[in-house]
Amino acid sequence: MIGTPLLGALEGGGTKMVCAVGYVGGAILKRKSIPTTTPEETLPKLARFFQGEGVEALGIGSFGPVDLREDSDTYGYITSTPKPGWADMPFMPVLRDALNVPVGFETDVNLAAIGEYTLGAGRGLANVVYVTVGTGIGAGIIIDNKPLHGLVHSEMGHLLLKPSADETHPDGFCPYHKGCLEGLASGPAIEKRWGEKAGALPPDHPAWVLEAEYLAQCCANIIVAISPERIILGGGVMHQTHLFEPIRRRTLDLLGGYIRSDKILDDIDHYIVPPGLGDDSGTIGGLILASRQLQR
Ligand code: ADP
Ligand code: ZN
Repeated sequence: MIGTPLLGALEGGGTKMVCAVGYVGGAILKRKSIPTTTPEETLPKLARFFQGEGVEALGIGSFGPVDLREDSDTYGYITSTPKPGWADMPFMPVLRDALNVPVGFETDVNLAAIGEYTLGAGRGLANVVYVTVGTGIGAGIIIDNKPLHGLVHSEMGHLLLKPSADETHPDGFCPYHKGCLEGLASGPAIEKRWGEKAGALPPDHPAWVLEAEYLAQCCANIIVAISPERIILGGGVMHQTHLFEPIRRRTLDLLGGYIRSDKILDDIDHYIVPPGLGDDSGTIGGLILASRQLQR
């Protein structure tokens, strides 16, 4: 497209880095996945990919914790990750210096939230929460049309929950907390509890009753804490689309009629929803972030 800047998007994960190039309207031209090994090996590969494509700006969403404060000396760094070699790593500055183009930086989930809020299931709303349920659990929060950063950034995956009466592992599997959402309901938590790949468990397996309970507790907590206009649930585990119904019903139960909004009470099917952009929320969010950075 002549006159339309070519943009880069990078979803930086702990196991793989998904690089893409495209345009701000969400058109993805090319995608490449690069395994996340050491920073010394991975960062030059990422730089070479985006240099080769000639992008005019880049939007990064990174695994974390990360430093999002633009006035900080360590802005754009991955800070305290247990992933070997990546703690205190100037992830964004290294790529910005290598590419010499404007680079935007967000958490991985805020990137997906930006995509969904702008072009996906949150389009037209000012306050949206996007939750990913995958290898980890995290939430990207859009408040008054802006991604929320806060003091550090949201770590909603570590909300403390009430274990179900049927729970065999009430402490869950998070190395930091007992009974947190991620420790009870992430893909790896399901696999540790049941000894099988989450994707291989049939829809009538008891695993999904527990999963719906925990994700409903998550939704109810989000509603009382943030009061978003919509909650979007994505990530690998939410490929189990049969989960949406029980999550919606149980969220209503848990709220007990206290929150008097017809959007919740009468229309929960359009309130707790799957992503509008499928598995492209983060990539499209990256293109949008890159475009914004170019305009700044
Ligand atoms: P990541 O969180 O690593 O970016 P995903 O969102 O794809 O990537 O999440 C991967 C996790 O989701 C794995 O733990 C896997 O068990 C789980 N998962 C992937 N596909 C499915 C599926 N169809 N049903 C249930 N769980 C799945
Ligand atoms: Zn935890």
